[in-house]
Amino acid sequence: MKEIRRKSLLYKSGVEYADYCINHVEGCSHGCRYPCYAMMMKKRCGVIKDYNDWVKPKIVINALELLDKEIPRLKDKIKVVHLSFTTDPFMYKQPEVADLTLKIIEKLNRAGIRCTVLTKGIYPKELTDKNRFSRDNEYAITLVSLSDKFHQQFEPGASPYRQRIKSLKYLHDKGLKTWISMEPYPTMNLVEQDLSGILNEIRFADKIIFGKLNYNIKASSFQNNKEFYDERAKEVISFCQKNKIDYHIKYGTQATEDRSTEEIFRQDDMVSSYPEPVYIQV
Ligand code: SF4
Repeated sequence: MKEIRRKSLLYKSGVEYADYCINHVEGCSHGCRYPCYAMMMKKRCGVIKDYNDWVKPKIVINALELLDKEIPRLKDKIKVVHLSFTTDPFMYKQPEVADLTLKIIEKLNRAGIRCTVLTKGIYPKELTDKNRFSRDNEYAITLVSLSDKFHQQFEPGASPYRQRIKSLKYLHDKGLKTWISMEPYPTMNLVEQDLSGILNEIRFADKIIFGKLNYNIKASSFQNNKEFYDERAKEVISFCQKNKIDYHIKYGTQATEDRSTEEIFRQDDMVSSYPEPVYIQV
């Protein structure tokens, strides 16, 4: 894997209620074609050339060094660190990325900083090691379908759905807090699927976030877009209430917004605003 060096790693989100984040890889071999918001931003800023460039990730080789300098300076200000918004911390079949991610989480936890982690990869079992990782971390997967066809078309490099769920369930069974990001949920003209079937597979999770698909012409032009998302959001709410699962519906998904659940997922909106990290190609 190619390497880059950066001048800084930990950054505060531009959103006032969010906290700190780390993106220790540039690009992502999952190559999501919803499209990927992070890829669009990087392209717009001239950091990457195109999709082919994006799917060849570059690891931040001095990430741990940077953390050693930044943790003492920022420690008292940080409540939680999120990995990651513009890449995937447990990128499927990229052991170098997973290895670095584990070292980063361990370093942060040893400094008393807890982490939230979101992936479309597979969680390693090491995360249950109480001597290395905090029990206060939260682990999440993105899951918007169980269809192999959808996977091939829209998340070609990401982990298979069943394996992804299984690795999260493992962490849950070991007493760790787990949640699901059902975002960006596709419209029916992209994939015909049964939402209740997906929800049943993830009923063990502590929290679910549900959100619509943006930036996709086919989804936006879907005739019943508004009604479709409003109905699906209601289905998620009813499922979560019945099964005593916390939930949050992302803004713009439902006809009527409910801000009372915002606190549960106060970090999700961070993706909408992130500064460009300073980096040097090596
Ligand atoms: S996993 Fe996330 S960062 Fe990676 S390509 Fe997909 S949407 Fe983009």
